[in-house]
Amino acid sequence: MTTLTNGELLLETVGLTKSYAGADGELPVLSGIDLQVRAGEVVALLGKSGSGKSTLLRCLAGLVPASSGTVTYKNTPLTGANPGTAMVFQTFALLPWLTVQQNVELGLEAKGVGAAERAEAARQAIDLIGLDGFESAYPKELSGGMRQRVGFARALVVEPDVLMMDEPFSALDVLTAENLRGELMELWESGQFPTRAIVLVTHNIEEAVLMADRIVVLGARPYGTIREVFEVGLDRPRDRDSPAFEDLID
Ligand code: ADP
Ligand code: MG
Repeated sequence: MTTLTNGELLLETVGLTKSYAGADGELPVLSGIDLQVRAGEVVALLGKSGSGKSTLLRCLAGLVPASSGTVTYKNTPLTGANPGTAMVFQTFALLPWLTVQQNVELGLEAKGVGAAERAEAARQAIDLIGLDGFESAYPKELSGGMRQRVGFARALVVEPDVLMMDEPFSALDVLTAENLRGELMELWESGQFPTRAIVLVTHNIEEAVLMADRIVVLGARPYGTIREVFEVGLDRPRDRDSPAFEDLID
């Protein structure tokens, strides 16, 4: 079983800045980001659209390089894709010509895991995430909620230290999102999740308060900075209507 609260430093950024090349020169997106993600915690990156949440998540995952500053995984600077992370995407990003089983095995294929071991690990991830019996289905035969379950299984099958989610529920209807969110949190809190920390990108304050231990608010004014960090904590009342949150992402 995964140890949930050992506090080991898994991801860290120091002075991270990121800008994209645009028609009018460099577009600054992130500036001076100092962030730590430790084993046992769920960190929400909260901010309005365009505040750089996805960019920060991609920098942490090593999918885009920092413009300056450092990103480390277990104190080792990243030189490419972060080996300790796996990503769940807003719009699922499944391959439509592959079955559920094949989609889930993809992450392991990239790591060179043999066929028999891949099949077994995928079956376990499929089971865990409530897709038992759908192994041979194609994505187009599934509802949105079921497709996102495939997205989760594909990420979880590699047992990443840190599960990265980029607005994973925002393409789902409210009830489906609520169910999936609840199931995931139950798995996480009962220690059945094969991952040691979660980074959740969301623009949904309620979701951040419900799921996270720590909420990092990215500000759009000034651009790309960490504006505030809240410790939510399971022992504290989770005040959904906190005016502080509302004020911070206006
Ligand atoms: P969020 O996820 O909070 O909505 P993003 O990280 O997607 O924010 O985007 C932050 C800013 O960076 C936006 O202004 C967006 O247009 C810009 N941006 C994001 N990705 C790219 C890219 N690949 N090339 C150029 N600009 C980008
Ligand atoms: Mg985004």
